[in-house]
Amino acid sequence: MIEDKNQQRTDLSQLGEFGLIDHLAKHFEVTQQSTIKAIGDDAAVMEFGDNRVVVSTDFLVEGVHFDLSYMPLKHLGYKAVVVNLSDVYAMNAEATQITVSIAVSNRFPLEAIEELYAGIETACKIYNVDLVGGDTTSSTSGLIISVTAIGQVKKGDEVYRSGAKPNDLLVVSGDIGGAYLGLQVLEREKEVFKVNPNSQPDLDAYTYIIERQLKPEARKDIVKLLQELEVKPTSMIDISDGLSSEILHLCKASKVGCDLYEDKLPLDPQVISTSEEFNMDSTTIALSGGEDYELLMTISQEDFPKIKANPNLTVIGFITDQASGAHLVTRGDQKIALTAQGWNSFDKD
Ligand code: ADP
Ligand code: MG
Repeated sequence: MIEDKNQQRTDLSQLGEFGLIDHLAKHFEVTQQSTIKAIGDDAAVMEFGDNRVVVSTDFLVEGVHFDLSYMPLKHLGYKAVVVNLSDVYAMNAEATQITVSIAVSNRFPLEAIEELYAGIETACKIYNVDLVGGDTTSSTSGLIISVTAIGQVKKGDEVYRSGAKPNDLLVVSGDIGGAYLGLQVLEREKEVFKVNPNSQPDLDAYTYIIERQLKPEARKDIVKLLQELEVKPTSMIDISDGLSSEILHLCKASKVGCDLYEDKLPLDPQVISTSEEFNMDSTTIALSGGEDYELLMTISQEDFPKIKANPNLTVIGFITDQASGAHLVTRGDQKIALTAQGWNSFDKD
């Protein structure tokens, strides 16, 4: 191999995932009139005639996103679909079709792939989407699944990450932190099992959080609820990476800041009890634990009366101007800068 000493080699870890996407994307110009929104949101938006179409795609890679020692293949198939539909709903759109591509090693028998597809089929039925294509190939290492989700939305009804305005309310659906803690419980049981394969775990105290990890749901119901309440969010994103990371994406895209209130974070009792058991701070988990697939949105203050009585929606803060930055206001009334890892406790105002 010829080595070019002058050739620059930049470590990808220097850029991070989002830095890498920004770096690669900046060279691409949009030339088609039908491209309404290209890279940078939960899904791309295209316009054909009077219809707007949204498209989103995601990978699930064995060893990176899932561990088959506790993830049943049926659940994996279900989850692979759901995490993609979540991005479609984050655009305030209706999901209509998916394609599924798999790379499989020959360590899997047919029956295993059938299990995977049984989960995919269940998700298609529950969310009312059609499987319309995909690709199948071999893999020399683990299992890789890529799903592309397609949806539709009436022109003007789509919601981007970029519409938040100062004084808007920051609202989250459901509760957060459960999926991450469910994973901690499963990892712990895996270690116990390695030492004692006859152990029978009693997971009754963790059913909700384990389900959040193994069988997440996308919030199709929230898109419908918002329609019924006649609320169009000013911006929206789904929570795949963790609340603080998603808030920062919204703030960056909308060129705003925000104040997020620690005491408003919606936490399930199992999240609180399990964080205590693991000696973890439930706020850190709510901010940094990912995979909840809830919707994070901003709504204008005028719409507050429409959502305030709804148990599915919690106001967790409000939008400020960009110069103010993004902060967590703690229970002790301290303002701490939000960072993608949760928050930087050394950076205090
Ligand atoms: P999400 O977490 O909602 O799935 P991502 O952070 O994966 O969103 O992606 C952010 C944006 O970057 C999306 O518009 C996505 O389509 C785009 N994107 C991600 N990876 C690539 C890539 N390799 N090439 C082009 N666009 C990409
Ligand atoms: Mg998303």
